[in-house]
Amino acid sequence: MDFEPVIGLEVHAQLLTRTKLFCSCSAQFGAPANSNTCPVCLGMPGALPVLNREAVAMAVRAALALDCIINPTSIFARKNYFYPDLPKGYQISQFDLPLGEHGRVRVFSGERAESGQIINRVEKTFGITRLHMEEDAGKSIHDGMADTDEKSYVNLNRSGTPLVEIVSEPDFRSSQEAYDYLIHLRKTLLYLGVCDGNMEEGSLRCDANVSIRPKGSVTLGTKVEIKNLNSFRFLQKALDYEIERQKEVISEGGRIVQETRLWDDGKGCTFSMRSKEEAHDYHYFPEPDLPPLKLEPAWIDGMRRSLPELPHEKMLRFVSEFGLSTDDALLLASTKEMADYFEASARISESPRAAANWIMGDLAYALKNSGQEISKCPISPAQLAELIRAIDSGKISGKIAKTVFEEIYKSGESPDAVINRLGLVQVSDEASLSAMIDKVMDANAKQVAEYRSGKEKVLSFFVGQIMKETKGQANPKVLNDLLKAKLKG
Ligand SMILES: [Zn+2]
Repeated sequence: MDFEPVIGLEVHAQLLTRTKLFCSCSAQFGAPANSNTCPVCLGMPGALPVLNREAVAMAVRAALALDCIINPTSIFARKNYFYPDLPKGYQISQFDLPLGEHGRVRVFSGERAESGQIINRVEKTFGITRLHMEEDAGKSIHDGMADTDEKSYVNLNRSGTPLVEIVSEPDFRSSQEAYDYLIHLRKTLLYLGVCDGNMEEGSLRCDANVSIRPKGSVTLGTKVEIKNLNSFRFLQKALDYEIERQKEVISEGGRIVQETRLWDDGKGCTFSMRSKEEAHDYHYFPEPDLPPLKLEPAWIDGMRRSLPELPHEKMLRFVSEFGLSTDDALLLASTKEMADYFEASARISESPRAAANWIMGDLAYALKNSGQEISKCPISPAQLAELIRAIDSGKISGKIAKTVFEEIYKSGESPDAVINRLGLVQVSDEASLSAMIDKVMDANAKQVAEYRSGKEKVLSFFVGQIMKETKGQANPKVLNDLLKAKLKG
């Protein structure tokens, strides 16, 4: 039987506020353990939460960017469970009435060829069920400290930091689609400046729901939840493994058990963490210490108007305005910094194609080698544009431009200054090239005769001689035209 996977993702994104969701403690990552705490985020009896206005603004921006309907009233709820890193015994979240609902995103997704390359990219629409706000829990530490064989430690710095949980519809039919969606989501949050997207530090965390069903069926199979897929690579590997595991169970006449599983990257498999019977029953109820969150329509409209151009729209515009391919536009719009860099150099140089090639080629290579981000690139878009114009105008050849590029990357000088300092101006002047050609032809009568007898390959010998003479700076087109005319005799 032919099966298709049905995948939905739940993503937790930490908002980039200065302070926590319900108190004024710093939300900074990496402070000394338990230093960013106060009675509110330690869950002391009688301490009252006060909602962080900036966190609401960021959550609303994220919800709008995901095309969600913003509920004018949303309700905070207590999600009750016991865990050592949750001192209150409950987490403040949103349940019945979340901040945003019924969103969708458009994403270019493809298939992965055996070479690993993405092929057949097409635009797909994936639904967003809801986006709600909640506070994070602290962190239990089970290893890397003294006596962790018999003790656990708890760090409550993260307790109360603001999160949005973004729940997708079960719209993904392959691990690649889930992967492309997650990449898109991360990109969008980074464009908005509401999350740093750092999966290693846990600012972006992903759980997946996976089931399979016979192709063409409309009923859903029993789903398995895979928790803590904290890298793009883990997500895709865990999904692929789980899809195959479920196919195997069903093919052998077994039944899928509803359960929560974890990914073991060392062993390359998922394993059961808890079954449905052991699942939490959270007993949500409205948070009595926080009033309903009411948002003015005019304020929401203002937030909508202030959204930046988002990655998908920018990518589509790069295709239509600059004539780029989808793949190139996707790459250049992958971060706002790269997109801005490309757009500035494309406009100043008036050669978008050349700007794209330099950025994806030599510049990407140089940045990678020096471990530099494009936001700290030693070459400004104006300098890159000046280099492109120097090639377009015939001042230097494409080959020499590579040397100039390396120089300006190192020194930060302007391309023209480097061209003049190193005497790299291309020789396009017909009179001086003519003189050199005459000299070379006189000295190589045998090769001239060969050429004239039909061995046209000898042309490259003459090109080589002149290039040697001019240290590679002869204008190839002018040189070729002149050489052919003279050799014909
Ligand atoms: Zn606090």
